[in-house]
Amino acid sequence: MINTVNRELEKALEQRTGQKVRDCYQCKKCSAGCPIAFAMDLVPHEVMKMVQYGQERRLMRSSTIWLCASCETCTTRCPNEIDIAAVMDGLRQMALEAGESLGEPEVGMFHKSFLGGIKYTGKTNEPILIGAYKTLSRRLFDDLGLGAVMLARRKIKILPRVVKDRAGMRRIFDRTEGGPK
Ligand code: SF4
Ligand code: SF4
Repeated sequence: MINTVNRELEKALEQRTGQKVRDCYQCKKCSAGCPIAFAMDLVPHEVMKMVQYGQERRLMRSSTIWLCASCETCTTRCPNEIDIAAVMDGLRQMALEAGESLGEPEVGMFHKSFLGGIKYTGKTNEPILIGAYKTLSRRLFDDLGLGAVMLARRKIKILPRVVKDRAGMRRIFDRTEGGPK
């Protein structure tokens, strides 16, 4: 029996990010330059290989996609001009949409809280970010003392800042496949 490779993941990623992962020929320059590689369970060239082999489940659950700092060093080094940082971002969104158990749950919760705040206010807002993250992580009372100090020093604003065209901001997210739900 001939085993065929499942190309669905590769196609879905290309549609979402515009990147042709099939062009990767495993030179490993991305992994050699990645400053976070030491902490990853799959280094960048391994991620690319697994995309080519359709290993969706393994990738969705990897810690790598959440540890990636989007620094784009890999993207700059790739001789095939693959935007590996964009591929990592695409995989993050796919993992959230698939409802998979995330490789780094707290980073995933932070990511969701951060983008959710921007979607509904159009700006980065500490009160919304902190509130959403603490609710999702169920760590409501951690860092209370530190929060009080930051409030007293006006490092955190109580009222969120909001752009005028909030509906327009939501439309941008709605048009962008993979925006926070
Ligand atoms: S963008 Fe992510 S994968 Fe690429 S070098 Fe930076 S941390 Fe590593
Ligand atoms: S640098 Fe580009 S071609 Fe080389 S392994 Fe990484 S993704 Fe593949």
